[in-house]
Amino acid sequence: MRKIAINTIEEALQALIQGNNNFVAAQKSGSVLKEINPISAADGQQPYAVIVTCSDSRVPAEYVFSAGIGDLFVIRTAGHVIGEFELGSIEYGVKYLGAKVVLVLGHNHCGAVQAAMGSHGHGYVKKILDEIIPVITGEDDVEICERLNIDNSIRRIMASELIKDEVAAGHLRVTSAKYDIESGRVDFF
Ligand SMILES: [Zn+2]
Repeated sequence: MRKIAINTIEEALQALIQGNNNFVAAQKSGSVLKEINPISAADGQQPYAVIVTCSDSRVPAEYVFSAGIGDLFVIRTAGHVIGEFELGSIEYGVKYLGAKVVLVLGHNHCGAVQAAMGSHGHGYVKKILDEIIPVITGEDDVEICERLNIDNSIRRIMASELIKDEVAAGHLRVTSAKYDIESGRVDFF
């Protein structure tokens, strides 16, 4: 499907890093050519990474990594909060689709984190803030709050026995990064 086979953790990480470099340089984007649709439908998907990121419209995961059809298994919620459905999706991407990397991608100017810092939210939005507020309580620096929220998503993922086993077996890397919505740059932690 894609031109270069990605079979290892290091190759998957390199594809993400190089993809973002390409995005920042506006040099290249992933292949969404029409020919890929029938091929990917016939061969199935083998995404090299699971990306867990914010629903923020300024954080388009595939663009950010210059990825195309079949490359990334993407889970997005406001503030990249993770509940049981999200965890199940991450496990699926790893166990059944063979993703080598799970990347939590936070970002600056995150409205979910800012809302949690202000403790305001109604309806089901409150459910999202209830997940973020406990991990940022007592902190008033927005950058630190964004980082704490990223770390919390990593903790949620590492609560999965399946994910823990895959990491321990050396089949998977779970890591995090932050996207700058101004520069387009991803900084890997
Ligand atoms: Zn956000």
